[in-house]
Amino acid sequence: MSLRPIEWDDIVRAEQRIRGKVAKTPLVKAHRLSERLGQEVYLKCENLQVTGSFKARGATNFVQALATEGDEGRQLIGVTADRSVQGVITGSSGNHGQAVAYAAQQVGLPCVVVVPEDVIGVKEQAIRGFGAEVVRCGRTSSERIAKAEEIAEARGYVFVPPYDHPLVAAGQGTAGLEILQQRPDVRMVFVPVGGGGLISGVSTAVKSRLPGSQVVGAEPELANDTYLSLEAGKVVDIGVSTTVADGLRSNHPGQYTFPIVQKRVDRVTLVSEAAIWSALRDVLAEKLLAEPSGATSVAAAVRAAAEGWLEGPAVCVISGGNAAAEVLVEALA
Ligand SMILES: *Cc1c(COP(=O)(O)O)cnc(C)c1O
Repeated sequence: MSLRPIEWDDIVRAEQRIRGKVAKTPLVKAHRLSERLGQEVYLKCENLQVTGSFKARGATNFVQALATEGDEGRQLIGVTADRSVQGVITGSSGNHGQAVAYAAQQVGLPCVVVVPEDVIGVKEQAIRGFGAEVVRCGRTSSERIAKAEEIAEARGYVFVPPYDHPLVAAGQGTAGLEILQQRPDVRMVFVPVGGGGLISGVSTAVKSRLPGSQVVGAEPELANDTYLSLEAGKVVDIGVSTTVADGLRSNHPGQYTFPIVQKRVDRVTLVSEAAIWSALRDVLAEKLLAEPSGATSVAAAVRAAAEGWLEGPAVCVISGGNAAAEVLVEALA
């Protein structure tokens, strides 16, 4: 498997692979925020993506290459020609689990999603709704990954990583390609950062066409692993995080994605839990539903405006809309 950093052409190729299988999401002007922050602010609505988050892009790019491109596609993934592929598997109860289940259903490949024993009912139902088998195991992600690897080995399934793979990062980058088409004069793009798949893809797209624009990562103070890794100049692990932005609780950036982030992302801005809640209300005020992770980009833009460095036209990627009912109740209380 080639581990060179993804480039523009990889994202163009991803866009061709996933076209018609995932949504081209709208870019809408945030009227209230623009007025309040004194710069034009737009929202890239991945909350309206199929499965409710951008993760459908990367998972679809990966699974399509695996299932439809023969030896060439398998080579991109690192599956040798002699191995038989009976299905796909992953270990996430959240947006990535739904995305892989969706992508597998599109190509008619069996799919297993390993979830924690205490998974909430609606998430498990969403995964089953895309025809995947759900296996419950443990409470930590390392327990789930170990279980997924065991099942993969026993059944001949391929593991689909949540962020740390060129095909996944390139798939997520198609959101950046659309931003360029929808707002060719964009000056700043704010992107939520977990393991770094989304921002490595989006920064690759945006920087290769608009090197003078800025790509800014948004990370919770309580999940500042990429921020600290950039400071240290190497991957740093922060241990368990408790931020309300559950999609950003990765404890370290990816080994594959981190060098791309180092090279192409201008800065990472930290946002407090209070700022994330406030940004969630800001997005609701624009008549859109975000989950906390998805609103962190808005929290970062609000911070940028307060510090005097927000430059419009700015785009905030609303990375997902799968908010739990309790979260919405709390946001509106
Ligand atoms: C996974 C996820 C992220 C983080 O994406 P990475 O590619 O891991 O950086 C952000 N927002 C939402 C809604 C997610 O599901």
